[in-house]
Amino acid sequence: MRLSRYFVPTRKEDPADAEVVSHKLLVRGGYIRMLARGIYDFLPLGWRSVRKIEAVVREEMDRAGALEVMLPAVQPSELWEESGRWTEYGPELLRFEDRKGAKFCFGPTHEEVITDLVRGEIKSYKQLPLNLYQIQTKFRDEIRPRFGLMRGREFIMKDAYSFDADLDSAQESYQAMFDAYHRICKRLGFDYRAVEADTGNIGGSASHEFQVLADTGEDEIVSCTECDYAANVEKAETRVESKERDESAMVDLETVDTPDARTIEEITAFLDKPADQVVKTLIYRAGDQPVAVLIRGDHQANEIKIAAALRDALELEFTELEMATDAQTEKATGAPVGFAGPVDLDIPVVADMAVEGLSNFVVGANKKDAHHLNVNYGRDFEVAAFADLRMARAGDKCARCGGTLESNRGIEIGHVFLLGDKYSKSMEATFLDENGKAQPLQMGCYGIGVTRILAAVIEQNHDDDGIIWPMPIAPYQVLLTVLHPDNDDVMGAADEIYGELQEAGIDVVMDDRDAGIGAKFKDADLIGIPLRITLGNRGIKNGEVEVKWRHEEDRSSVAVEEAVEFIKEGVKDAMEGR
Ligand code: ATP
Ligand code: MG
Repeated sequence: MRLSRYFVPTRKEDPADAEVVSHKLLVRGGYIRMLARGIYDFLPLGWRSVRKIEAVVREEMDRAGALEVMLPAVQPSELWEESGRWTEYGPELLRFEDRKGAKFCFGPTHEEVITDLVRGEIKSYKQLPLNLYQIQTKFRDEIRPRFGLMRGREFIMKDAYSFDADLDSAQESYQAMFDAYHRICKRLGFDYRAVEADTGNIGGSASHEFQVLADTGEDEIVSCTECDYAANVEKAETRVESKERDESAMVDLETVDTPDARTIEEITAFLDKPADQVVKTLIYRAGDQPVAVLIRGDHQANEIKIAAALRDALELEFTELEMATDAQTEKATGAPVGFAGPVDLDIPVVADMAVEGLSNFVVGANKKDAHHLNVNYGRDFEVAAFADLRMARAGDKCARCGGTLESNRGIEIGHVFLLGDKYSKSMEATFLDENGKAQPLQMGCYGIGVTRILAAVIEQNHDDDGIIWPMPIAPYQVLLTVLHPDNDDVMGAADEIYGELQEAGIDVVMDDRDAGIGAKFKDADLIGIPLRITLGNRGIKNGEVEVKWRHEEDRSSVAVEEAVEFIKEGVKDAMEGR
């Protein structure tokens, strides 16, 4: 390709709505353009990289034994009624009607469609296991589309679905996908972690997210610096050093005035006590049931864990856990927000494990401008259950090995999920086992955000001047920058190298535009092609071209007649990650 005939509209200015570097550089580099909120055009350079990411994903799916299919994007509502998600999925699901008034949605994911396909065709255990995947455009009407391709509304996903006869075999299918995801992340050159993830309301089964480390990531993950434990903070277990408390040291409860001291900061400052001697009392509503949750002052509540504990330990049934409103808190505690406490409170109280080892702590007194000191559970109030209810954080002890946790932000580029029979049961997807008995298929589902990967790669590979593509997914591997295209000797040498590289199967683009040298170098840095070969009057006169790797500062020279060999070697090494 020649840039003189290309469509690469680079820009000097960042788009006004761009907050993260990948969004800025993709727009400035002429890779994407926004059509509507969260909906983007892919321009020629952008589409080439998308296709290269797809190719890596496809190769690894095929290697893992998955078979590529292409399912419709438009899905009839009846299937979603069967699974129960027509009502459950909420406003992210883009619903519409055809001319006859039949209801459809634009697929945000394809569990229903694939289950429908497979239940019609798979009859016997002899046809299992089966893994089908596709690479396709999805639509989710995200409440806050942002960060360009990172959280779009229309995006490209690879989604795979496995079907097995039993859970052990489903576990093997899961492992095969898990391994394939590792290979994909390695080939894309990511600094990443596979982390244990929450399984949401599906419960029980295994789930891992593949998180690319970046400060701009929307997820927080923790990982152990000593063992291989890593988890999304939503899920990460915490551990307590000691649940023992010194009961002989308990002193009498005291009530003190704490005017306007509501927050932990205000209370610790006012009473001159450390935050780990103060216990927060958070009032939630599990459906209609108000509950009090006790968390140490220096810890953060984890609502996913709290919901699970209320279901398991208190056997409460509810769909949504919500923070109580100010009015509901006042009704439950008799005091305005900021003064809630567990003493003389007549709603169930659950406490984080870290509270179990505390004695003589501070809590709100359920009275405006008052707190209790020297409070002790058992003596002053009862706890219905102690459980792990808080967010893990950097510096915590690892729940597995006792090592130390570190915390990072991550971009979730993939998610593997052992579904079990969630969809096969509700949609009656069964097969006959060896004894001729009908059994529900055991399923797994596995997503990769293809277009989100494009953004994640840039978040990890850029500098002040632009993108620095890893070779395997660069739109072109080599850029020939012709400084003096009007000089026949220079253009002749460029054409020759260009032709030979194309012959050798190298993706090469030539900047033969009639533009200033400064502009050419600026665009080269912005666009980020990994290997730049520069040809100019002086160099060609000396029989040389200049070589510059985008990720290195230094330039060097190579004889014109050795240039092609040099480039071929360099590209090959870089493709293999050397
Ligand atoms: P998130 O928590 O980021 O919303 P999710 O859990 O909803 O993701 P999945 O349903 O597991 O995502 O989808 C599989 C993959 O699709 C994700 O791992 C992610 O890479 C990608 N993906 C999901 N939502 C978006 C989006 N709005 N824009 C771009 N990619 C997305
Ligand atoms: Mg989502």
